[in-house]
Amino acid sequence: MSGAAPARPRVLLLLPTTTYRASDFIHAGSRLGIATVVGSDRKQALADVAPAHTLTLDLGRAEEAAAQIAGFAERWPLQAVIPTDDQTAVVAALASARLGLPHNPPEAARAARHKDRLRATLCAAGVRTPRYRLLPLEADPIVEADGQTYPCVLKPTFLAASRGVIRADTPREFTAAFHRIAALFALPEVAEKAAEAYRGVLVEEFVPGAEVAVEGLLAGGRLRVLAIFDKPDPLDGPFFEETIYVTPSRHEVATREAITEATGAAARALGLREGPIHAELRVGTAGPWVIELAARSIGGLCSRVLRFGTGRSLEELILMQALGRDLEGLEREPGPAGVMMIPIPRAGILREAGGLDRARQVPGIVEVTISAAMGKPLVPLPEGSSYLGFIFARGETPDETEAALREAHRRLAFVIETG
Ligand code: ADP
Ligand code: CA
Repeated sequence: MSGAAPARPRVLLLLPTTTYRASDFIHAGSRLGIATVVGSDRKQALADVAPAHTLTLDLGRAEEAAAQIAGFAERWPLQAVIPTDDQTAVVAALASARLGLPHNPPEAARAARHKDRLRATLCAAGVRTPRYRLLPLEADPIVEADGQTYPCVLKPTFLAASRGVIRADTPREFTAAFHRIAALFALPEVAEKAAEAYRGVLVEEFVPGAEVAVEGLLAGGRLRVLAIFDKPDPLDGPFFEETIYVTPSRHEVATREAITEATGAAARALGLREGPIHAELRVGTAGPWVIELAARSIGGLCSRVLRFGTGRSLEELILMQALGRDLEGLEREPGPAGVMMIPIPRAGILREAGGLDRARQVPGIVEVTISAAMGKPLVPLPEGSSYLGFIFARGETPDETEAALREAHRRLAFVIETG
């Protein structure tokens, strides 16, 4: 085989089996004429017949996975390695470093993944972020609750999608939340993820205020903000269910600039340089607080709310950026857009999802997708990590877009059988 790059660039997509992101990334690859290889944590059906297209990796062991990717690339050269969540961000950074591709410093990706390290890094850099302390799982919550100031938020050090994030207003709530998070760590699937993480509970001051999310792309350390989303549902706890995202943000220009500024400062503090970032901030009276900064793109199916230039997807932009292509002129399509992650209202078995047609008839509604499987158990927050589905809307104004999402959601009827 010659050492020259193939005419069709080959890109490795790191797609954990539980991800929602697979089809959007694979589709983006085919639209761009890229050969995509799916790197996943379970052997795929076509692995033996199409060895150049799939790669089974232990994504929980980043160093080993990166070594395996490097081995694969000797045979089938790779032009980019694309992460899709916090865990694969570390794998992608390590693998890209081995392959000599532009990448985030692996330590930066690790710091973004571990909430305790994120906080420590932001505090040290003077970026406004909640005060925090880290408790080992063996700590006595009754003792710790005593010295705590309230309200506070307890959370596991490394999960996502608000899983295990719990507000406490009293010592009693603190103790209950601590036990609930400790129980989460005991779940096999969480324990597996915790292999490289600090098994502890992060306790933070509760920061009040409106929340926003920022979607951005880093290239050579420069941040380009692709969208700022308002999260109009109050996120005051005790659990922090994500629901509606609407862009453009309705905050005034100065606030939006401060949000962009704080996000950029957080990325610099971590040392992130390349690829997608997703941040969450709370807008306080003195300015924005950085709640989270992740070295990945937005989760779930939410990216479908974004379109760039003449109809390019976020995944296409991510792939293009990774391949060093020109993103000039690829601004977000003008016009407000929004998505609702349909929360799981209670535990049970999903038997029926009704009202879809009626929901789709709401003016401005673009798509209603039910992603939860019929007949399967639903787990609500704080233990769960999935949604019933997604509603997408476009409108003349952000307010109208938000109203359409709420009306469509109101028209949906879920039959959940409780045991
Ligand atoms: P995850 O990575 O699971 O999404 P986050 O740390 O982003 O965890 O927390 C999830 C949500 O919980 C945030 O989007 C925010 O609404 C709320 N939250 C988390 N920490 C705080 C805090 N210190 N103060 C106020 N709200 C918080
Ligand atoms: Ca978050």
